[in-house]
Amino acid sequence: MPTYLVGFSVFEFDKLSTKDETFRVWGREDVIQKQGKYIFEKGPLILNKLSEYMGIDYYTIMPKMDLVAVPDFDAGAMENWGMTTYRENYIFFDKDQCSAPVYISGLSLVSHVFSHHWFGSIVTAMKWDYAWLNEAFGRYYEFFGLDLVNRTTFCR
Ligand SMILES: [Zn+2]
Repeated sequence: MPTYLVGFSVFEFDKLSTKDETFRVWGREDVIQKQGKYIFEKGPLILNKLSEYMGIDYYTIMPKMDLVAVPDFDAGAMENWGMTTYRENYIFFDKDQCSAPVYISGLSLVSHVFSHHWFGSIVTAMKWDYAWLNEAFGRYYEFFGLDLVNRTTFCR
C-alpha cells in the first residue's frame, strides 16, 4: 500500500451501516440520518458496478468501505484505502433528491474516488511523476462509473 493512502480518522460521528458493516457512511449526528441516506443507498451500487467492470471485486482486497463526511475539507475528497473522505455538502443531500447538481458534484465525485481503489491503490505508479495518471482515470470514471449504473436507479 502506498504510504499516502494510509489514513485514519478520529471523530464522534453517527453512521449508517449495512448489517455486516462492510459499507458505512459517517457524519454529524444532526445531519446524517436525513441527508446521508441517499449516498448510503446509491454508493454501493456504484462500488459494485465498478467491481464488476474492473473484474476485481473491491471486497476481495479490502473488507470495508467507509465514507466519512466532514463539514469542511479543502481537498473536497480523499481516497484512503478503505476510507474515503468528503466535504459534507458533496455527499449529503435531501433524500430522494435527483437533480443535476447532485448527479454531477456528488455521485460523480464518489465514482471518481471509488475508482482510485483500482487506479491508485491496487495499481500504483512507481514515481510521483506519473501520479497524474491516477487522476486521469479518476476523471474518466467520474462519469463512466455512473454510466455503468442505470441512471434511473439514481432517481428512485
Ligand atoms: Zn482523484
